Amino acid sequence: MKHMKLFVLLAVICLLVGSAFAVSKLMPATVDQDKCIGCGKCTEQCPTGAITLNDDGVATVDKDKCTGCLKCASACPAEAISA
Ligand code: SF4
Ligand code: SF4
Repeated sequence: MKHMKLFVLLAVICLLVGSAFAVSKLMPATVDQDKCIGCGKCTEQCPTGAITLNDDGVATVDKDKCTGCLKCASACPAEAISA
């Protein structure tokens, strides 16, 4: 019985961690194009190359590559990036 409680607890923890990971994958970064000043700092921080500057010099996110880590948002001086 004691082991059963431990098993259930571990199963719940695994479910919560898995759900959080799945949600982060489903929530790629988004750029407020009106706030972006085109400095490119976000592109230097992205580990997957998901965020690039487009022809207008504004950051855009490739949702297929984005993991939702938000390292780009931390680097943005204009607070233009959110989840
Ligand atoms: S959230 Fe992470 S993976 Fe997505 S664009 Fe920003 S730095 Fe790149
Ligand atoms: S760091 Fe912010 S302001 Fe600079 S290019 Fe990226 S989104 Fe635009």
